[in-house]
Amino acid sequence: METSAVRKDPSALEEALAGPPIGDSVALRRDDDGAVVASCAECGHELGPADRDPKLGAVMRERSIADLSPLNAVGMTARLVARHFYCPGCALLLAVNVQQREDPIMLEWRLDTGAETLG
Ligand SMILES: [Zn+2]
Repeated sequence: METSAVRKDPSALEEALAGPPIGDSVALRRDDDGAVVASCAECGHELGPADRDPKLGAVMRERSIADLSPLNAVGMTARLVARHFYCPGCALLLAVNVQQREDPIMLEWRLDTGAETLG
């Protein structure tokens, strides 16, 4: 057993589960079935499996980029939109993405749970 398993180290996952929230708003935990899920760091509301972006389990509200700063009012307000993602349980702001209006939700992260080495 000399294989280096830095990326798939199961203990790294356990550390992440016990550690602080990711970006202060999303925490990792195990659900009742033992699956790793992303949850709201404030209220614990489950945002979905850890291997997909937690924003997909959030409530989204689109606002004008001028709401972020008055300086943006002279910018491309017709083309750009500020997408705010909130926890459905407690309304904690999870993320804000500025994107072109017609673009899909920006998927930014997913957790490599290393599950293939656990089974
Ligand atoms: Zn919450």
